[in-house]
Amino acid sequence: MQTWLVTGGAGFIGGNFVLDSLKGSGLRIVTLDALTYAGNLDTLAPVADNPDHVFVRGSIGDRSLVNDLLREHKPDAVINFAAESHVDRSIDGPAAFVETNVVGTLSLLEASRDYWREQPEAKRGAFRFLHVSTDEVYGSLGDTGKFSETTPYAPNSPYSASKAASDHLVRAFHHTYGLPTLTTNCSNNYGPYQFPEKLIPLVIAKAVAGEPLPVYGDGKNVRDWLYVLDHVSAIRAVLGRGRVGEVYNVGGDAERQNIEVVNAICALLDQRRPRSDGQPRNSQISFVKDRPGHDRRYAIDSSKLQSELGWKPSLDFETGIAHTVDWYLEHTAWVQKILDGSYRLQRLGESA
Ligand code: NAD
Repeated sequence: MQTWLVTGGAGFIGGNFVLDSLKGSGLRIVTLDALTYAGNLDTLAPVADNPDHVFVRGSIGDRSLVNDLLREHKPDAVINFAAESHVDRSIDGPAAFVETNVVGTLSLLEASRDYWREQPEAKRGAFRFLHVSTDEVYGSLGDTGKFSETTPYAPNSPYSASKAASDHLVRAFHHTYGLPTLTTNCSNNYGPYQFPEKLIPLVIAKAVAGEPLPVYGDGKNVRDWLYVLDHVSAIRAVLGRGRVGEVYNVGGDAERQNIEVVNAICALLDQRRPRSDGQPRNSQISFVKDRPGHDRRYAIDSSKLQSELGWKPSLDFETGIAHTVDWYLEHTAWVQKILDGSYRLQRLGESA
C-alpha cells in the first residue's frame, strides 16, 4: 500500500486530488494543510471517517512537524499543492506569497531530501517529490503561440514570481542533490470546491444573488481552462509515469476570454434558474478597473504530457462549465459557509 503526503489538501485542487485519489484502493493519504483562509475542512468532509486518510493541521514551513510526519508515515511521495494562490492578494501583500511559496517550499524540499536520503535503496529509487505549479510563471503571450516546457520564465505578478522561484528550487534540488522531483505547470482550473474569490465561483455566486458581476478591463484577457479533475488525473499520470527531473505542462486546449466565460455561466444560469424579472443574467456584468500588470493571454502546449504519458483532458469546456454551475447550485451550503465565514469555525473544532 502506497502512502502519499499531500500538502495543501484542504484547498481547491489539493482537495479534489485527495477526494478523487482515495476512491481507488490501496492508497493512504496524509494531508498537511495550514488552513489559511483558503483551506476548508468541509471539502474533506467526505473522507472524514476514511481510515486511509489522516488530516494534520500545520505549515509546510514547520520543519520539525514535517520531519515528524515523514518519519511517522514514511510516504512514497510528497505532492506539494500548498501555496498562497490568489493573484489579487499577492498584489496587496506579496510577503505571504514569498513566505509560503518560496520559503515554505524550500523547507519542504529540505525535509523531503533528508528523509529520502535515509530510505533503503528500493524505497529511495521509487520516491517522488511532485511540485504543483502554474503556467503563469511563463508570463504573457501575444495573440499567437503557446507556452511549452522550454519557454523562458517571465513572471509578472508577485504570485507568479513566487511560484517561479519555487519551481527553480525544485529543479535545483534535483540537479544538486538528486532528489527525484517532478513539476507540473498547469493552466487555470475550474470545478467543485473552488474558493469563491476566483472568477468562476465568484461569478456564479454573485449571479445567483442578483449582484453585479465584476469583469476586469475589457474582459478580453484570455486563459486556458482545465476542469480540476483533469488536472488531478494529469498529476497522477506524472507521479506514476513521469520521467524524474522533468517538467510537464498541463492544459485543456480551451482558450476563452474572461467575458466569454462569464457569458457562458450567465447563459447556463438563465436556463437553470431564470431571474424572476425575466432579464438575462449578463445584464448584471459590470466592467471594473483592470488588475495592475494583468497578463493578456495564456495558452499552454501539453503535447509532451499527452504523447509521453497518454494523458488527455476528459471534458471539454462547455461540458465542464455546465457540471461546475450545477455543482455550485447543488452545494449552496458549502458556498454559503464561506460567504458567512462559518467555515472558519469548523476548522477550529467549534460548531458552526
Ligand atoms: P488554494 O488557495 O485553493 O489552496 C491552497 C491550500 O494550501 C489551502 O488549503 C491552504 O490552507 C493551504 N496552505 C497555504 N499555505 C500553507 C502552508 N504554509 N502550509 C500548508 N498548507 C498551506 O489553491 P489551489 O487553487 O488549490 O492551488 C493549489 C496549487 O496549484 C497551488 O500551488 C497553485 O499555485 C497551483 N495551481 C493552481 C491553479 C488554479 O487555477 N487554481 C492552476 C495551476 C496551478
